[in-house]
Amino acid sequence: MMKRGVKKVFFPKWKSLVRSSLLFLGIILISSWKIRTENRHPLWQHPLWERPLWGFFGHQRINRLAVFTLPPEMFKFYKKHIDFVTENAVNPDQRRYAVKEEAPRHFIDLDNYADSLRKKLPTYSWKEVTEKISEDTLNRHGIVPWHINFMKFQLTEAFRKRDVRRILMLSADIGHYIADANVPLHTTRNYNGQLTNQVGIHGFWESRLPELFSDNYDFFVGQAEYIKTPQKRAWQAVLGANAALDSVLVFERELTAQFSEDKKFGFDERNGITTKNYSKDFSERYHAMLKNQVERQMRASIKMVGDFWLTCWIDAGQPDLAALLNYQPTKAEKEADEEEKKSWLRRVFDVRKEGDN
Ligand SMILES: [Zn+2]
Repeated sequence: MMKRGVKKVFFPKWKSLVRSSLLFLGIILISSWKIRTENRHPLWQHPLWERPLWGFFGHQRINRLAVFTLPPEMFKFYKKHIDFVTENAVNPDQRRYAVKEEAPRHFIDLDNYADSLRKKLPTYSWKEVTEKISEDTLNRHGIVPWHINFMKFQLTEAFRKRDVRRILMLSADIGHYIADANVPLHTTRNYNGQLTNQVGIHGFWESRLPELFSDNYDFFVGQAEYIKTPQKRAWQAVLGANAALDSVLVFERELTAQFSEDKKFGFDERNGITTKNYSKDFSERYHAMLKNQVERQMRASIKMVGDFWLTCWIDAGQPDLAALLNYQPTKAEKEADEEEKKSWLRRVFDVRKEGDN
């Protein structure tokens, strides 16, 4: 029963969808322009800018479905704001062009670190790790597990202060970083197969496959559970995703050897625009070889997002969310929200102008 309910409520409101789409389109435009001009301008040679974006489909679905893992004391509140946490699931990606600290929060290149150090990383708090490795180096190779923990503290604080706006914003944000931490290609410097002649695999795994096949996934993940050691939990996700990395790359390579170029790729038409993409046949075969891996990682993300929301609420002393149900954003808050989003979009186009100089 719950599962049926889950499917029904997935679709966000049109207006917000159009707004997200416009912002996303802006980022896509600038990204494709970047690819054409990256040799021309040193700005684009910064590796962090080259990280591909998660499709917003996966992030939105994960945040939305996490609401259904919550206990009754939290469910009503989150259900009321389900469109907000869905729509804003992609904010962290959209902020990347406007906020320079943003990019490293989405990934960690585990293979950048020597075996001995890599094994110790999960045992270090942020403070400890910055005593051993410079912040520059850490930022260059990504900080997602520590950032999840940082978000956890902030969300707990927002619950403690009963600050509805921040609770909602941070819930959407932490959901995003958790989903990223569960993607195998977010744990390697070969994040888009660029080191192994498999360019495009990032979007293939995390956007194309869920878009094609996730309607048949089982997203019933049970109830959220309290996390005793959030930092450890974040690392478990990263290490679990990393353990799946080999199959992501190896299977694609094996399958490519069996396909001619014109069979591996096909053309899709979407909203009147024709784009080259992995063919249906290739996608189906690859998806079958991965044996539910994408579904497993999406399920793990949904459960983990619910677990973190619950844990923050419990650690804040279980504030009565029913008392916050009457919250409506003020006109000023709404305008500030709109303005901030517009500024991200403006930044995308400003970057383009800078590049033209
Ligand atoms: Zn991301």
